[in-house]
Amino acid sequence: MDHRALAERLFPGEYPPPEFYEQKYPPRDLPPHAEVTRLAPSPTGFIHLGNLFVAIANERIAHLSGGVLYLRIEDTDEKRKVDGAVEAVIKALEYFDISFDEGAEIGGDETYAPWYQRQRAEIYRAFAKRLVAQGRAYPCFCTEEELSALRERQTANKEITGYYGKYAKCRDLSEEEVYAKLDAGLPYVIRLRSEGDPEKKRKFRDAVKGEIAVPENDQDIVILKSDGIPTYHFAHAIDDHFMRTTLVIRGEEWLASLPIHIELFETLGFPLPRYGHNCSLMKQDGETRRKLSKRKDPELSLEFYRKEGYYPRAVKVYMLTLLNSDFEEWYLKNPERPLEEFSFKVGKMSKSGTLFDLDKLNDISKSELSKLTEEETFAFLKEWTEEFGSDAQKGYFGEEEKMRKALALCMGIGGKKRRKDFVTASQAMRFIEYFFERPVRREPYRATAACVNALLTSFLQTYDPADDAQVWFAKVKAVAAAHGYAAEMKDYKADPAAYMGSVADVAEMLRIAVTGRANTPDLWTIMQILGEEEVRIRIGEGMNHE
Ligand code: GLU
Repeated sequence: MDHRALAERLFPGEYPPPEFYEQKYPPRDLPPHAEVTRLAPSPTGFIHLGNLFVAIANERIAHLSGGVLYLRIEDTDEKRKVDGAVEAVIKALEYFDISFDEGAEIGGDETYAPWYQRQRAEIYRAFAKRLVAQGRAYPCFCTEEELSALRERQTANKEITGYYGKYAKCRDLSEEEVYAKLDAGLPYVIRLRSEGDPEKKRKFRDAVKGEIAVPENDQDIVILKSDGIPTYHFAHAIDDHFMRTTLVIRGEEWLASLPIHIELFETLGFPLPRYGHNCSLMKQDGETRRKLSKRKDPELSLEFYRKEGYYPRAVKVYMLTLLNSDFEEWYLKNPERPLEEFSFKVGKMSKSGTLFDLDKLNDISKSELSKLTEEETFAFLKEWTEEFGSDAQKGYFGEEEKMRKALALCMGIGGKKRRKDFVTASQAMRFIEYFFERPVRREPYRATAACVNALLTSFLQTYDPADDAQVWFAKVKAVAAAHGYAAEMKDYKADPAAYMGSVADVAEMLRIAVTGRANTPDLWTIMQILGEEEVRIRIGEGMNHE
């Protein structure tokens, strides 16, 4: 077979030689140990926790080493492409403070542009042509039907599926056969002519997993599809080389493709970048551990965190806790320091599955939100509400003073200890709802309606908004005593049978009447914030409530 002639037939015309691209995309001028990392999502519109996990690692490694993090869009699969997906990726990552130095829609140093694979078609074709000319790639005319029949046969025979060895039918077509098919205008793909032997294993140093054994590849994978667009495998090898990536941290679902990638880099004559395969995020599901699933676990999608209003730093703190074994200890010692000061190391990344626990994240969220000032909380909630809140919630910010007082109370600002009641913005906004909206539903009272009505009526008779907290409470006690409730807890505890209940039960009734809830921060302050008229209306409504 005259490979050069075949290459010319398949890719007519002049294509630049490799040296041209080597010069066009020169090695980066960076300090000696600087790492060039990237995020290379496909624009499918679904960006998930796994992407963030890898993004944080790549970002930390690049920036701590004085290197570069760039964004490349792997849009070779037209079928999976979704409009607006690139903006969604950038926005989702921006929320977690992942900033790229260059890339699609970001710009930056144009030397390594374009960052959309579809705009790089010529480079892939130039290298595909070269591989055909070298006899290292060939056209394959097998139809979808033939390939799926092959897959079925292999599956039935319990063989490895794919296009390889004796199954690679078009690999050994004669020159006449190839030209006859081309003349007949049959569609074709370009496949790599693999030279590997899977019986042979080689040692490979994975930046995350350490030393692993990787078999050689023998699959004649497709490098260019019938529409001339490359596959991920081929495109990523060329791009990572010419974008001068030094370290690829990616999900471990790609580990199985590593043999292919090693062969591709070698065949193309490119040095292999370092790879680190990050372990998958697992979830405890009853007795078993399984991978987080798009269908079952809403928390897999990054959209979930923005919609719920997780405080970005909290998610980042949790991700770092999972990513680097000594982060938690460092953070305990340095709770106020910027996360960027933690010395993130690839070598400290977990080598096997990591358990993702939403309860743990929620605890971290509560603690992170409790560190914010009233001003920061106000700004955070406002921003979230503007995008995701209801119209009623947007209205709360129109009563700014009330909002601030409500936040200060709910966060325990000025108190002995900060409260940790807020998990997310959406939950916080529901939490403070009763300051702005009268209760439509109330938690059940633990007394008869007659009893509740009598107590609330007595309270209204003595209620004076000018009373300070002590006087107010003394009045609540007096109301309690007048209705057979113990005014002092200790008296009630000493002889519960002697009373209808205690002052705590009376306070709970008031609380439910005013807020609809049995548990809230300090009731006197809530009443002060609401004002006399509102308190009287609510207590009135609370009486008629069964
Ligand atoms: N386009 C691949 C993905 O979306 C990127 C894999 C890689 O990082 O190499 O998963």
